[in-house]
Amino acid sequence: MKGKVAVIGGGFSGLSAACYAAANGFDVTVFEKHPGLGGRARQWVEKGFTFDMGPSWYWMPDVFERFFGDFDKKVNDFYQLKRLDPGFRIYYPHDFLDIPADHQELFNLFEKIEKGGGEKLLHFMKDAKYKYDVGMTDLVYKPGLKWSEFFDKRLLSAIFNLSIATPFDKYVHRYFKDERLRQLMEFPVLFLGAAPNKTPALYSLMNYAGLMLGTWYPAGGMHKIVEGMARLAIELGVNIRTGSPVEKINVNGDVARSVTVKEEDIAMDYIISSADYKFTEEKLLDLSHRNYSETYWNKRTMAPSSLIFYLGVKGRVKNLQHHNLFFDENLASHTAEIYDQPAWPTDPLFYVCCPSKTDASVAPENCENIFILMPLAAGLEDTHELRNRYFERILDRLESRVEDSIRHRIEVKRSYCVNDYIDDYHAYRGNAYGLANTLRQTANLKPKIRNKKVKNLIYTGHLTVPGPGVPPSIISGKLAAGQLEKGL
Ligand SMILES: Cc1cc2nc3c(=O)[nH]c(=O)nc-3n(C[C@H](O)[C@H](O)[C@H](O)COP(=O)(O)OP(=O)(O)OC[C@H]3O[C@@H](n4cnc5c(N)ncnc54)[C@H](O)[C@@H]3O)c2cc1C
Repeated sequence: MKGKVAVIGGGFSGLSAACYAAANGFDVTVFEKHPGLGGRARQWVEKGFTFDMGPSWYWMPDVFERFFGDFDKKVNDFYQLKRLDPGFRIYYPHDFLDIPADHQELFNLFEKIEKGGGEKLLHFMKDAKYKYDVGMTDLVYKPGLKWSEFFDKRLLSAIFNLSIATPFDKYVHRYFKDERLRQLMEFPVLFLGAAPNKTPALYSLMNYAGLMLGTWYPAGGMHKIVEGMARLAIELGVNIRTGSPVEKINVNGDVARSVTVKEEDIAMDYIISSADYKFTEEKLLDLSHRNYSETYWNKRTMAPSSLIFYLGVKGRVKNLQHHNLFFDENLASHTAEIYDQPAWPTDPLFYVCCPSKTDASVAPENCENIFILMPLAAGLEDTHELRNRYFERILDRLESRVEDSIRHRIEVKRSYCVNDYIDDYHAYRGNAYGLANTLRQTANLKPKIRNKKVKNLIYTGHLTVPGPGVPPSIISGKLAAGQLEKGL
């Protein structure tokens, strides 16, 4: 064995780091504070309903294939994927659009809405594919420690062509005039936890991911990915300890010697923390060992938090697809209330996932499993009164748009908001998606993957490179484990 590694946290980044480290010959233990694995992608089961608590969009299937492929496995050794068609539905103020999986049908749809739209989409996607290929093969797999990582002829010329400095909204507006098409093209960057006017056009790669590579669904739910990764980790010899919060990283000089778990000091040679970056620094380390100050964190732009409702509903609900975006209010106003003047939204946009439309196993017979998410600025006040008020408003709109009554059929209901993110994940300001992918917080400008004062302490997860989302978190785990090989 090359040494003992403690991985703090059993979400996607922690499990990924554990798999790579174990495969490279380290003796790995994952310490997870919750009774179950998955972190933000945990599962909640109640009265026959099985809810994915966080992620619901399976995009970038190549990243998952590459992850399992690194261990000579395939995705379908662990779970079965289905491509959703339509990929998703968008409700606009007066109508809705179903986004087809088939590329030709998608081009036809754009052409129908805006003259020349099909041709423009073709050009847009040609450029987006280039960005995706360069971004996902080269850029995101860099640990972001030195600028020289990018000193490569192909990469430098590619970066020059990636529209890094153009704001995403301007870029989209250059192509499309119809407001519905603009919103459709702008929405994927919300996944990056940033406003379209603050996000580099480089991220049109997300459009390629969503509209060309498709929206997929693992049978049984997103938690099947977690279960697959955990099974792989165990096969590779990882020891997984759930219900085991790490209370302290004990440092001697510039080396971490052990972690304290339930008052027991457990000797370690290396530590990879996938717990919230700021929490790791502030609560698990002494002041003198931290990479960043309070002032640094105060200046960061956080990705949003969110208000979520998990609903188990008796009977079927009309006019819902698996994924539904309610963009029947103004995207720019809601975005401004997340980033510019943080406040509970005046006229919220929201998202509804109804996996029981695809998968009978997630709800009892003749019932619907419904997940409602409203993005919200991180750090806002969170009370039961506010949650209830927004529940009533969202349900009014939902019932009216789908022309069905839901309220009186609810059998299971749970809400989740800012305070829960803080309690469950020690999330800085109750963020749901980590750090916003603004230009100033991209690549090497993100919090560093290595601790500069404790040489065997490494960070992973959505607050460091490459950023928020399930695929980036899995890549982050690989980058963190790769640091173990660099010699500390
Ligand atoms: C509501 C929501 C919806 C989302 N939707 C999507 C989506 O559709 N598609 C997508 O790609 N991405 C989505 N994301 C983003 C994605 O879920 C996250 O980026 C990803 O899961 C983060 O993984 P992580 O390992 O970095 O962090 P986490 O999942 O937060 O894992 C960190 C783990 O550390 C544990 N921990 C914390 N402190 C300690 C401690 N002291 N000791 C031991 N363990 C500790 C936590 O319990 C947790 O399990 C969504 C996120 C949320 C919240």
